[in-house]
Amino acid sequence: MESLLLKDALVVPMTSQGEEPQSFRGSVGVVGNRIVMVSDEADCVAQFMAEHPTARVVECDGKALLPGLINTHCHAAMTLQRNHADDIPLMAWLNDHIWPFEAVQTKEDIALGMTLGIAEMLLGGITSFVDMYFEEDFCVDVVERMGIRAVLGCSYFDATIDKTLLLAERAIKAAEGKERVRLSIAPHAPYTVSDAHLQRGKRFAEEHGLDYMVHAAETQDELKQVAERYGTTPVRLMERLGLLDKRTILAHCVWVDDEEMEILARSGVTVSHNAQSNMKISSGVSPVQQMLEKGVCVTLATDGSSSNNDLDMWEEMRSAALLQKVSTMNPLSLPAYEVLKMATVNGARAMGHEGELGLIRVGALADLVVVDLQKPHLQPMHDVVSDLVYCGKASDVEMVVVDGRVVVEKRQIKGLDLAALYREVQQAVKRIVEQM
Ligand SMILES: [Zn+2]
Repeated sequence: MESLLLKDALVVPMTSQGEEPQSFRGSVGVVGNRIVMVSDEADCVAQFMAEHPTARVVECDGKALLPGLINTHCHAAMTLQRNHADDIPLMAWLNDHIWPFEAVQTKEDIALGMTLGIAEMLLGGITSFVDMYFEEDFCVDVVERMGIRAVLGCSYFDATIDKTLLLAERAIKAAEGKERVRLSIAPHAPYTVSDAHLQRGKRFAEEHGLDYMVHAAETQDELKQVAERYGTTPVRLMERLGLLDKRTILAHCVWVDDEEMEILARSGVTVSHNAQSNMKISSGVSPVQQMLEKGVCVTLATDGSSSNNDLDMWEEMRSAALLQKVSTMNPLSLPAYEVLKMATVNGARAMGHEGELGLIRVGALADLVVVDLQKPHLQPMHDVVSDLVYCGKASDVEMVVVDGRVVVEKRQIKGLDLAALYREVQQAVKRIVEQM
């Protein structure tokens, strides 16, 4: 088994329980895909090296070491549509641009878009993501090849449920034996998928041991449509349908009232907050601070790059914090540590690895990010968590480890020719737009 020592870093350990843990100068030892040593003592490091004399040693002086960031909601392949149609009202955006684009793209195009999306995420320190799109069975190999960790969500509308569940069976076979890939069933939303089809997807997920994800309570227009059809709200509807539990992720939850927040907390669902997407589409401000106070597991995400327009969790952390502060008119809302916790510890629930991902402790999965602190915008450093959340950039990420394997080093993704990828993407997009 391969071993790795990340030496003399400023370690930001994070924790799933209790108070904010102290950051400290220390070293982290990895064997296989697990963290086996976390210490600030020279003796422990010496013992690790004695036990693992072939371990690769990476000097991390002047650098921060934190758990990999977890993006709990995105449509990675939509990188192909980045900046294709901006500043347009939601329904016109979908009807005139997004859906016609999607109608002509092939599964090879989708795999290409996902490759570009994963490249962007890895270079920005994202080690896990939850996806929701089409042809996910075809994308299992992309995730495997790129070395990232993912939950791939097979997405459907009413008209496509049969086809999608067939594809999901294919995806289950494709993902067999691949530990970094999980699958989920992902109906689009309660206003675009009928109650019967929402339930059918959940039953399928339960029968096959898969996760479940759905966009929910994103816009006021959605609330209106759900009220007209069912006489209730999206969250109450989904509770009534038996869709809410620990294996379910609800993306957005912008428009939820107090009682719904209690339902979300009680049921154990994961809420995925997409601050920049909510701002760009003018959806509204999710009551994140209130949800956290009520015990809801709120995580952080980028959404797709046609509504954001990047897959950058650093921007997302800062936007989420600032948005809560201005919307509550309270500078104490969503402090830096809480927002970093959303992007790491809380996100682990969405990945099905609660307590063993999104933190640095002995026994946890080795998903780690080395951030170079020797940058003008990160100096001087009074508090490393504030430094990372309020000043950090994706481009400060220097090294990324996923499942014990170094996948990014010196800002290069191992085994990927980015220039060739950009050329392929340009060609695919040109063809798609011509065909539209
Ligand atoms: Zn989305």
